[in-house]
Amino acid sequence: MSEHKTTGPHRPRRLFSPLLYQLSYLAAVRARKIEDRPGDAKYILESLALGTSARSFSGMPHPEFPNLTVLDHPLIRHKLTILRDKNTTTRDFKQLVNEIATLMAYEVTKDLPVEPVDVDTPLERMRGVRVAGKKLALVPILRAGLGMVEGIAQLIPSARVGHIGIYREHDTLEPVDYYFKIPSGEEARDFFVLDPMLATGGSAVDAVGALKHAGAQRIRFLSLVAAPEGVRRMLDAHPDVPIFAAALDRELDANGYILPGLGDAGDRLFGTR
Ligand code: URA
Repeated sequence: MSEHKTTGPHRPRRLFSPLLYQLSYLAAVRARKIEDRPGDAKYILESLALGTSARSFSGMPHPEFPNLTVLDHPLIRHKLTILRDKNTTTRDFKQLVNEIATLMAYEVTKDLPVEPVDVDTPLERMRGVRVAGKKLALVPILRAGLGMVEGIAQLIPSARVGHIGIYREHDTLEPVDYYFKIPSGEEARDFFVLDPMLATGGSAVDAVGALKHAGAQRIRFLSLVAAPEGVRRMLDAHPDVPIFAAALDRELDANGYILPGLGDAGDRLFGTR
C-alpha cells in the first residue's frame, strides 16, 4: 500500500469550505477594485455601499420593516438596473420584468412544504419529493402586475391565476374593485399578489383586503420596487402579509411615483407612454 508523502515540514490538512472560498473571493475582488483606483475615495465608498452587507443579505427581513424582505441577488440587481434605465425598450422591459419575477419566485417559494413521492429511475426505485399540493395562486393587480405572471408561471406551471382590478373613486378616494376573480379553494391556497410597484400602498392594501374578505389565509406580496411609504402602510394594515421586493427605494414624489424608481411600470410594459 503506497503511503501518501508530503515534502517539507508537516502541513496541516486543509478542508475545502465553499463558504470560506466565496467569502475570500469576494474580499479579494473588493480589495483589487479598490487597489485599481487608489485614492479615489468616492469609488471606494461606492464599492463598499454596493457590496453585499448583512443588512441587505438576500432572504433576511429588512431591519426597519419586519414585513419586508429585499431579494438582492446579484442577477436581480443587475436586471433591475437595466429595467430602471429610461432608454430600455418596451420589449426588453417586458422580458426583464418576467426574468426578475422568475428569480424572485425561486426565493419566495423556498419554504414551500414538500411531501415524499416514489419514483422509478432507469435503475431503481427511490423516494423523492414533490411540492405538497398544487394550491398556489398568482394574483396580479391590473394592469402592471400582469407583467410578472409569465415569469413565475414558468417555474410553477401548475399555479392558478386570478386577477384584481382596483381604482379609487375620484371624489371619495374609496377603493372600487372593478374586477375580482380568483380560483376557488381560497382557504387552502397560497396567494402571491403581484404588482411591480409598491408605491403608496393603496391598491396593495385594498387588494389584500379583498382577498382576505374572500377567504384567503396565506398571502404574500411580490413587487419589484417598493417605497417605504407603501411598505409601512402594508405593515399597518396587513402585518401578517410578507412583502418581497427586488429593491426598497428612497421615497415617493408629489405624484406618488417612486424615486428613483423606474417610471410608470404599466406604461413601460405595454408601450402606452
Ligand atoms: N406606479 C408606477 O408604475 N410607478 C411608480 O413609480 C409608482 C406607481
